[in-house]
Amino acid sequence: MAEVTRKLGLSTTAIHGGAAPPTPGTGVTTPLVQSVNYVQETGTSEGLRYTRYGNTPNAELVQRRLAQLEGSEAALVLSSGMGATACAMLALLRGGDHLVSSSWIYGGTRTLFTDDLPGMGIEVTFCNPLEPRGWRKALRKNTRVIFLESPVNPTCRVLELNSLQSLAHSEGIALVVDSTFASPVNFRPIEHGVDVVIHSATKYLNGHHDILAGVVCGNEPFIDEVRRKMMVWGQAPDPFACWLLERGLKTIDVRVKRQNENAMRIAEWCVKRPEIAKVHYPGLPSHPDHEIAKTLLDGFGGMMAIELKGGGPSAIRFIHALKVFIYAASLGGVDSLVIEPRYSSHEHLTSEERAKIGIPDGFLRLSIGIEDAEDLIADIEQALQQ
Ligand SMILES: *Cc1c(COP(=O)(O)O)cnc(C)c1O
Repeated sequence: MAEVTRKLGLSTTAIHGGAAPPTPGTGVTTPLVQSVNYVQETGTSEGLRYTRYGNTPNAELVQRRLAQLEGSEAALVLSSGMGATACAMLALLRGGDHLVSSSWIYGGTRTLFTDDLPGMGIEVTFCNPLEPRGWRKALRKNTRVIFLESPVNPTCRVLELNSLQSLAHSEGIALVVDSTFASPVNFRPIEHGVDVVIHSATKYLNGHHDILAGVVCGNEPFIDEVRRKMMVWGQAPDPFACWLLERGLKTIDVRVKRQNENAMRIAEWCVKRPEIAKVHYPGLPSHPDHEIAKTLLDGFGGMMAIELKGGGPSAIRFIHALKVFIYAASLGGVDSLVIEPRYSSHEHLTSEERAKIGIPDGFLRLSIGIEDAEDLIADIEQALQQ
């Protein structure tokens, strides 16, 4: 777009950030360049483009835009959220290093940390993120990374960052946050002293349940190292996925604000229902992290959870009766979804183990979309009556 000197708002950045100034005759939308290889200049290796290097025109544009949205020096788009986390860890850790991670993380990330990194000689310690002293106690001389996810799946806990970022920085440790659940509309961890931000772009960033992608944001030398890992481990995104991600990003501000509003209204409605034992939503004053959420987040998000009084059988009856909500994994898109963690993210635990970490049978995670709130509430109401 034309030269603008004042700092642009998030919504304007989501639509125009990183794009070349428009010239007569070019399309208003970004052209999709669905090519693996690119005509090269003779006599130099400068400007060599190849899809696996992450430097296709569609990848480079959406990377510039994501860096602006997160407030980071650089960003890299990869083929999935797991690709992003794996390559970021490969860039930060070597054999003999130590990683300290919150124990409340995405299942795929947990498998990477418990099964794959130790096989490469990287030690991993898990911490209960609610015990602030636990983090310090877990640190060793060879600790290079502290990893956490916030807000947390599926309980929507929001973790405090202040003391953690001063601890990490006084010890020279990289603080890495997966903020998939919030999106940069609600939470920009770099503004709170975090070094590296990771997203599953499959979720809110794209927002339409139609691509798989991930993003890593951080400083330039670090992103260069993640890119090197991405090239060697083959985790680059397809140009079409980058094009769809850029298109999805244009509406992120209005989408997420609508999701925040819808979720707040649904949460407030659910609190009053006798069939529901508990509502998990950081926007409710009753949520244990409501005060932290108010200081860290610009919006309380579109993710929430409810616990039905009748336990597992009630949950199944409820899901069968829903007409607007779709029973499916994943989250963050325009369509509202419902899922039972006992049959998805937390199926590896027993019923007792799940209850102990706050996910009893009858627990339903809702990803609130951008439909009319009245219709979503009516759908929940009629399903509760079944
Ligand atoms: C979905 C998800 C991931 C993994 O992302 P994919 O795009 O499915 O690889 C990582 N972290 C969180 C918090 C997620 O929700």
